Amino acid sequence: MKTIYFDNNATTKVAEEVLQEMKPYFCDLYGNPSSMHTFGGQIGKEIRHAREQVARLLGCDPSELVFTSGGTESDSAAITGALAAAPNRRTVITTRVEHPAVLAVCRELENHGYTLVELGVDKAGQLDLAELEGQIDDDTALVTIMYANNETGVIFPIDKIAELVTGRGVVLHTDAVQAVGKIPLNLAKSNIDLLSLSGHKLHGPKGAGVLYVRKGTRLSPFMLGGHQEGGRRAGTENVPGIVGLGKACELAAANIEQENRKVKRLRDKLENAILESCPDARLNGDKKNRLPNTANISFEYIEGEAILLMLDKYGICASSGSACTSGSLEPSHVLRAMGVPFTAAHGSIRFSLSRYNTEDEVDYTIEKMPQIVNQLRELSPFVAK
Ligand code: PLP
Repeated sequence: MKTIYFDNNATTKVAEEVLQEMKPYFCDLYGNPSSMHTFGGQIGKEIRHAREQVARLLGCDPSELVFTSGGTESDSAAITGALAAAPNRRTVITTRVEHPAVLAVCRELENHGYTLVELGVDKAGQLDLAELEGQIDDDTALVTIMYANNETGVIFPIDKIAELVTGRGVVLHTDAVQAVGKIPLNLAKSNIDLLSLSGHKLHGPKGAGVLYVRKGTRLSPFMLGGHQEGGRRAGTENVPGIVGLGKACELAAANIEQENRKVKRLRDKLENAILESCPDARLNGDKKNRLPNTANISFEYIEGEAILLMLDKYGICASSGSACTSGSLEPSHVLRAMGVPFTAAHGSIRFSLSRYNTEDEVDYTIEKMPQIVNQLRELSPFVAK
């Protein structure tokens, strides 16, 4: 059975072009970039090239980028590194809908004497910027707010948030793991100080990511030892991963507009057809300010996990809540923060598409979804027979 992969916010297929670019760095060009000999030393220029490819996608200077092992490391490093560099300020502002890579780190800070402010969101998953502005004071060290939500695709107005934060001695970090490669970003025109991205969300390899650190932003080193990454992040570089991530960014930069159009058209077709054909289905999240690839839909009175299992029987991969929280019986913290009722939050499914999805895959899923939903509703104790 062919796999239909609609779980691209969890991870993506490595692009063939990326894989080809990475291959030589395993068994042929396997030297250590820190070595004195040419065999190893020559690899340094490949890392420089990858840094330039990432910088071009983000609109920043290559010297502002630190390679990491992925989104989780970049988020942790940004938060702990920014706080260590500002010891006199003890308040952190974040939102209730962040990925656990941010939320868990922020909540842990409360055990170390920090004050944490978690901003709520409205029904559409959007923030109240006046509330944010009112929370910033002289004790605020860091504001960490995601660029786009992994579960709903809702995009926060980060550039506006940056304007509110600027000039107040506060560092602004954004977890842009879901945004990079899916929507255009231009850091040259923004006041974001720190930004996290992850290779495996944009058809690059797993285990490779970046932390962008705006020139002049104070950030303590987060891995000590060697001199790599300007002393900020010691450790022998993941050369194949970095080379692959660079190529993935180059591909994203070259194709982002046409891919967005294609992915959005397929996503809209899938979403509209499901909302029309399945009774008691509702879309979660701001319909307008949203990633072009994500649709989060709740089906009242049935369990998201049951829908997933039936989709799986047809070879269709989707997700309920975020991949990290599925498997637990708690409904998604993001949907709960948006005030989605329990009965609907339990029955939510996220479809996340990519450049590799086809019209046939969408049509097949459109055919199967009402059958699945009707079958499960027949079994549901909450639906009057
Ligand atoms: N932040 C967001 C918004 C994510 O969606 C994810 C992964 O799902 C992460 C961080 C973690 O990234 P990684 O898997 O590269 O550690």
